[in-house]
Amino acid sequence: MIKTCIHCEDTFNLDSQNKRRVGGKINECPDCVEELQTEISETIRAVSSGDGKMACIQILKFNNEDDADLYRKGWDQWSGWNNQRSGSVHDVAFTKVGENSGNSNSKGKA
Ligand SMILES: [Zn+2]
Repeated sequence: MIKTCIHCEDTFNLDSQNKRRVGGKINECPDCVEELQTEISETIRAVSSGDGKMACIQILKFNNEDDADLYRKGWDQWSGWNNQRSGSVHDVAFTKVGENSGNSNSKGKA
């Protein structure tokens, strides 16, 4: 879908890889989004949990770097947490965008 940028009046493809990558509004071209930083950057982090066979990579999306760092710090700090949930990483807002569980790959035959 071809759109016209409200900033530079250039046309751009709304469905292009570049546009998808940088985000921004539907009437802002990727160049302007990057240049003007109109998109609130989202921070994607991979966090591994568990250990050994049960290890699992979670792909988490945070609202900003601070949250990501907070989570990361919290994760390190609380990775050995038992049942104390107050003030833990669970207070950080994030969205889980993916998970790569150690069990997801089916081995053997069906
Ligand atoms: Zn533009």
